[in-house]
Amino acid sequence: MKAAHPEALPIAGGTDVMVEINFDRHRPAAIMDLNRVPELSEWATEDGLLRIGAGVTYTAIIDELGHQLPGLAMASRTVGSPQIRNRGTVGGNLGSASPAGDAHPPLLASGAFVELASAGGTRRLPAREFFTGPKRNAMRKDELIAAFLIEPAKGPQQFSKVGTRNAMVIAVCSFALALDPERRRIGTGIGSAAPTPVMADEAERFLEGVLDEGGLWERPAIVDAAAVARFGELVAAAARPIDDVRGTAAYRRHALSVMARRTFGWAWDEYRGRASA
Ligand SMILES: Cc1cc2nc3c(=O)[nH]c(=O)nc-3n(C[C@H](O)[C@H](O)[C@H](O)COP(=O)(O)OP(=O)(O)OC[C@H]3O[C@@H](n4cnc5c(N)ncnc54)[C@H](O)[C@@H]3O)c2cc1C
Repeated sequence: MKAAHPEALPIAGGTDVMVEINFDRHRPAAIMDLNRVPELSEWATEDGLLRIGAGVTYTAIIDELGHQLPGLAMASRTVGSPQIRNRGTVGGNLGSASPAGDAHPPLLASGAFVELASAGGTRRLPAREFFTGPKRNAMRKDELIAAFLIEPAKGPQQFSKVGTRNAMVIAVCSFALALDPERRRIGTGIGSAAPTPVMADEAERFLEGVLDEGGLWERPAIVDAAAVARFGELVAAAARPIDDVRGTAAYRRHALSVMARRTFGWAWDEYRGRASA
């Protein structure tokens, strides 16, 4: 159907699409209701990865997958309200590709892939290649998002979001962190502080170096505060924020460095607790 009608706008939960239509920002020539495709709301394990249909809601992620994907579940809990979480989907978040989309930082931190399907076949893109600009993504007109693929958490994960109130709020900025003790890797994702969601590569490599050199994965002691502060600075440096109605670029950078320090502190405490248990 999408191949025959590439101009048709897909609708899943409709929590972005209907806002656009109600405010008359968008008048799609046709709408394609994806709720009639039951496979989109299913998830399963495939070669050690979770393959999660694009139509799986935030509520289902929290309830059914929270123990395997704690970072994404934390982010999902901050989305909108119960009504929005019951309807809204990660596929829709990816489709909108807002730099402020809350699912994106944990997908980046965990090295997730986005599966795009068309009449011609299926392709899987690393999430970081999927976001191409503000509210723009790598999906072609004849494609749909079928699913995303993500590894079950190998270690502690965290998500932190700054908003002007506690619920129903678009992120001023956000940060996701994933520890992978098996591969000795740190994963990051920054939201709402660049034209697209981004990763903080240099910060990741720096912290991996600190943990490796100190033998801290094997003997998890407290990490030197100066190193954690440097990690925060490098995360802030990876952002390309702007001043807008929600906050200034300087505030976003500051908040990111604080969130990076705090989320690492929480995740590392959890890792140390597990190691000593
Ligand atoms: C009151 C309110 C509060 C909100 N709070 C938050 C928040 O805290 N955090 C946050 O990140 N977002 C928030 N949102 C935005 C929205 O809920 C999310 O972006 C949600 O993930 C969208 O999912 P959906 O299924 O409703 O998408 P839809 O509105 O159905 O679709 C969104 C876009 O994705 C496309 N699309 C959907 N599914 C597919 C698919 N399978 N293949 C290809 N394209 C597809 C659509 O064509 C459209 O362009 C909020 C919205 C509202 C109205």
